[in-house]
Amino acid sequence: MFGRNQVASPMLDPDGRLLVHKVFDTIQGEGPDAGRPCVFIRLAKCNLRCFFCDTDFESGDWYDLPNIAAVVASEASVFHRDLVVITGGEPLLQNIVPFVKQMNRMGIACSVETAGTIFYPELREVFSPTRGIAENLIVCSPKTPKIADGLEEIVGAWKYIVKHGGVGVDGLPNLSTQYNGRHSNIFRPSFPSVPIYVQAMDELDERQNKLNLEAAAHSASVFGYRLCVQIHKLVGLE
Ligand code: SF4
Repeated sequence: MFGRNQVASPMLDPDGRLLVHKVFDTIQGEGPDAGRPCVFIRLAKCNLRCFFCDTDFESGDWYDLPNIAAVVASEASVFHRDLVVITGGEPLLQNIVPFVKQMNRMGIACSVETAGTIFYPELREVFSPTRGIAENLIVCSPKTPKIADGLEEIVGAWKYIVKHGGVGVDGLPNLSTQYNGRHSNIFRPSFPSVPIYVQAMDELDERQNKLNLEAAAHSASVFGYRLCVQIHKLVGLE
């Protein structure tokens, strides 16, 4: 998308219908579940427009809850997966709670990847900061100076995208995600017990990516964050 997508507004369907871009089987490449085989459900649309975003999420089809639950559960069953990663775009633009409950009833945990700008109270029914509720997890990768009120209390892990030359005194990014080259005070977590992952920005440029990886490794080494690399890209998976 590279900052050229439409900026979307929340579309919270009370019955849990979802606008889905894609469902696919893969290995989670990032964060606490890195290396874990899973099913990805990529929801359509995002409310941000990050200049470095290389994900295609604009188009999608609406699915009723039973239909999308059946598609994902069938994929999980064929490939023996017990984890579904709900990603986007921005997955919290949509009411994912009925879907998460349905997955949990089938013995499948859900991990959500969000930029953290949206919260609705029903999320508390299925997510806690530890994996206490059916092993569900929210991984938040902040892209803005503030995140939505209420969300931090249920975030189980943080992930920051590090670019060479764009790191603050705390080893975390201090560049705008919306305007390339501009400084910005990206949100910082308040609770020290929640793990922070740092990951090099992929700029599709080998030399720049090497510098970004060195910057991320330096942050991890100096500040005690956890370095993550995008395993799925290393092995040629989506
Ligand atoms: S929040 Fe994520 S999906 Fe949305 S534009 Fe930024 S990087 Fe892309």
